[in-house]
Amino acid sequence: MECIKTRTIMTKSNRGQRWFGSDYHMNLYRGCSYGCIYCDSRADAYHINNFDVIKTKENALQILEEELASKQQKGVVSFGTLSDPYNELEKDYKITRGALELIKKYEFGVSIDTKSDLILRDIDLLQDIQKNNNVIIKISVTTYDDALAKVLEPNVISSSKRFAVLKKLRENNIYAGILMTPVLPFVTDSEKNIKECVKMAAKNNAKFIYTKMGLNLRKKVKEYYYKHIDELYPGLAKDYQVVYGNNVTCNSLQYNHILETFILECNKYHLLCDMEEIVKDYKKTIPNREQISLF
Ligand code: SF4
Repeated sequence: MECIKTRTIMTKSNRGQRWFGSDYHMNLYRGCSYGCIYCDSRADAYHINNFDVIKTKENALQILEEELASKQQKGVVSFGTLSDPYNELEKDYKITRGALELIKKYEFGVSIDTKSDLILRDIDLLQDIQKNNNVIIKISVTTYDDALAKVLEPNVISSSKRFAVLKKLRENNIYAGILMTPVLPFVTDSEKNIKECVKMAAKNNAKFIYTKMGLNLRKKVKEYYYKHIDELYPGLAKDYQVVYGNNVTCNSLQYNHILETFILECNKYHLLCDMEEIVKDYKKTIPNREQISLF
C-alpha cells in the first residue's frame, strides 16, 4: 500500500466539524475503494488524487500516540469522515485497530462511520473504550433495497448485512445507529425507502437514525455522480441539471413531506433522530468524564 508522509494525524474539530459531537477527527487512510457514486470525499477541496486507491499515512500510529499522550483534555475522536476506516486493506494492515488500542490506552472516546462488517472484529476494543469514555457507531445506509444499494455502492456489503452489523453491535451493548445520508433526489427519496430504513433501524435495535434529505454535489463529485446516475437512469443527470443548476446542495423536491414522514416514523419506533439529542444521549453514558464541550 502506498504511504503518504504526514506530520499530524488528529485535528481538533472546530465548531463546523463537530460531527456527532466529536472533539477531534482523523483519517488514517486516504481514498476509499467502496465506490459509492455520491461520495463527497472525491471533492476537489480535499485534494485526494486517485481517490479509489487506498493509501495510508507513514508512521500513523506512532504520530497518533504522541498526539494522544500530549492532549490535556480527553475527548471523542471521529474516525472516517473522508474514508471508511474499515476498508478492504484494514483486514491485513490493522491500522484502525491499532488506533483503537491507543484510544483505549489514553482513555479517549470514538465516533466511527462505516459501511463495513469488519467493525465487528473490534467489538472487544469498543467495549473496553466505552468503560472510560463515549462510543458512537454510525452504520451508513442509503436504501433498504439491496439491489439498488449494489449499484449505488458497488463494493460495499448489502444493506441487509449492514443492518445485521448494527444488530450485532447492539447485542454487544455498543451505542450504535444508522446514518441515512445522503438521500438522493429522484432515487432514494421515496416515502417507501424512508419508512423502510427507519423500520429496519428500529427492528435491529438502533439507538438512532440520522439523515439529511438531500446530497451535496461539489466540483468533481458532481461529474462522477452524473456519469454514474445517468448510466443507471438515462436522462436523470439532465433532470438534475434543470432542477439544481450549479447548486452544491441538492435537497429532495419533497423535502418537507419526507422529513415529516421520517420524524413521524422515528417517533413511532421511539428512535432518536435529532443530532443534539443523539449527542446528549450517547455522551450521558459517561456522565463524569469532562469533555471539551458538548456541541
Ligand atoms: S464508503 Fe464512504 S468514503 Fe468510501 S466511497 Fe463510500 S461514501 Fe466514500
